[in-house]
Amino acid sequence: MIHKVIIIGSGPAGYTAGIYAARAELKPLILAGEKSGGQLMNTRVVENWPGAEKGVIGPELMIEMGKQAQGFGAEIVYKNVTKVDFTSRPFKVWSGEEEYQTEAVIVSTGAESIRLGVPGEDKFFGKGVSVCAVCDAPFYKDKITYVIGGGDAAVEDVLALTKHAKEIYLVHRRDSLRASKIMVKRVKENEKIKILWNSELKEIIGGQKVEKIKIFNNKTNETKEYAADGVFLAIGHKPATEMFKSQLDLDEKGYIKVNFSFENEFLTQTNVEGVFAAGDVVDFKYQQAVTAAGMGCMAALDTERWLEKKE
Ligand code: NAP
Repeated sequence: MIHKVIIIGSGPAGYTAGIYAARAELKPLILAGEKSGGQLMNTRVVENWPGAEKGVIGPELMIEMGKQAQGFGAEIVYKNVTKVDFTSRPFKVWSGEEEYQTEAVIVSTGAESIRLGVPGEDKFFGKGVSVCAVCDAPFYKDKITYVIGGGDAAVEDVLALTKHAKEIYLVHRRDSLRASKIMVKRVKENEKIKILWNSELKEIIGGQKVEKIKIFNNKTNETKEYAADGVFLAIGHKPATEMFKSQLDLDEKGYIKVNFSFENEFLTQTNVEGVFAAGDVVDFKYQQAVTAAGMGCMAALDTERWLEKKE
């Protein structure tokens, strides 16, 4: 069987592409991954999703999006894509030994958390080191916790920890936060949160689990040890493009390049005709659920028009 379109990924971009492609009667197959739903599965309330005045719970939003796509006729398979071949049409996509063929592909694999690479980080991953405070905060009741980073994710993490942890430190390498003003205001107003400015995590130390961390102050050049139970990394994301390296043009940071100019006919098209890309796997700049969803819509419309033109 040759599908009309296969969508790889199931964040806001993938599921929105699925909704539009299904409504266009393309019967899309969404290869959603074993952990479907993308980064919003690691969040709690999304306050800036338009139309949800009181906010919407991230995982609930993603489950609803998937159901909405299915309701219009999309098929969702919860498997990881392991290999692709975009060198000739029909394109081939594999999940393990299973091969799928398709006329068009929408890549919406999103982005994944960046690791710091300090000693102890790998050893204690899952034993005190985490990339998702929103998921793991309840395990840190009355514990001492550190969040590394200065963007919205780090700020969201410290705020999530205030409901559970005894002590919460935000460790940032500079002396001002990158996060949005409203989030910074909430952090500064919360007495439970202390900010360690100009500070860099250098090592995570412990036995069976995290016990201490070493922090270097880049203004005073001092390194100090602090007692710690939990370390949360929130230093940004990298695009999930490893398997597309030899197939698609990527920029120097690994994001997929698309024809994103309104002068072009198919703005979401990659360097391979018939392969489109949308969401955080393309977008290093805005990285919002709503922009990813918008791009997913564009990719589905581009796919529909490209398939019509081809026929
Ligand atoms: P981000 O905005 O790129 O921030 C990453 C932070 O980590 C920066 O403060 C950066 O420091 C720091 N950092 C990077 N590399 C580091 C390293 N090697 N060592 C120490 N610190 C390092 O990433 P993000 O917070 O994940 O957010 C990504 C996007 O998602 C943004 O557009 C954000 O607005 C959005 N987002 C939104 C929400 C929300 O609206 N609720 C929640 C989460 C994320 P510098 O500041 O010095 O560069």
